[in-house]
Amino acid sequence: MANDCLFCKIIAGEVPSTKAYEDDTTYGFMDISPKAKVHVLLVPKQHYTKVSELAEADPAELAHIVKVAQSIADKEFNGSYRLVFNTGEDAGQSVFHVHAHVLTGEMMEE
Ligand code: IMP
Repeated sequence: MANDCLFCKIIAGEVPSTKAYEDDTTYGFMDISPKAKVHVLLVPKQHYTKVSELAEADPAELAHIVKVAQSIADKEFNGSYRLVFNTGEDAGQSVFHVHAHVLTGEMMEE
């Protein structure tokens, strides 16, 4: 667990969240400020700051997150979804524990 990491605290249950998915390596929870009808954040339980770091250290976990995103979209909608990894402050990353935004549950605007 990284010091002062909000998402590490959510994974540990120290900060409350609305759980959307969980297994041994991955946690999913509803975004507090949803940008779609269904907006889930998927995070590896292990702390990595950004998606390229995760890809380097644990590519299987990154692939797993993509599969979980698909399963959420299959369940919540018609299999369509947007998968976003904001990477770096200038791209809008505000929490430096890698997270996939899974946006689904409705038709997405372009
Ligand atoms: P980023 O801007 O790509 O880093 O995404 C961070 C996301 O975390 C944003 O969409 C926020 O709405 C979301 N967020 C921040 N704090 C919480 C929280 O306590 N619970 C759930 N989502 C959060």
